Amino acid sequence: MNMSDLPELIQRQRRIYVENVCKRCAGTGTTIYGNTSTYWHSIGGAAMRRDVCEVCWGSGDESAPWPSHREFYEMKRAAGGGE
Ligand SMILES: [Zn+2]
Repeated sequence: MNMSDLPELIQRQRRIYVENVCKRCAGTGTTIYGNTSTYWHSIGGAAMRRDVCEVCWGSGDESAPWPSHREFYEMKRAAGGGE
């Protein structure tokens, strides 16, 4: 298998239509962030880090995003669940 075919293979396996493929992560569900705070966009360590994509939240499909991790953690904190 040619590695350049990988994104297309992933999209096909996940049944993501070409027109809905998430542009941020190319349908893979993860992306690279510029610092270790990832999708929080706050102060983080000076290292690139891969984490869940903040556009599709892992689904790879812009038309059908999975639940937001940010909203989940905010709900959890509001409910008194700590970090
Ligand atoms: Zn994405």
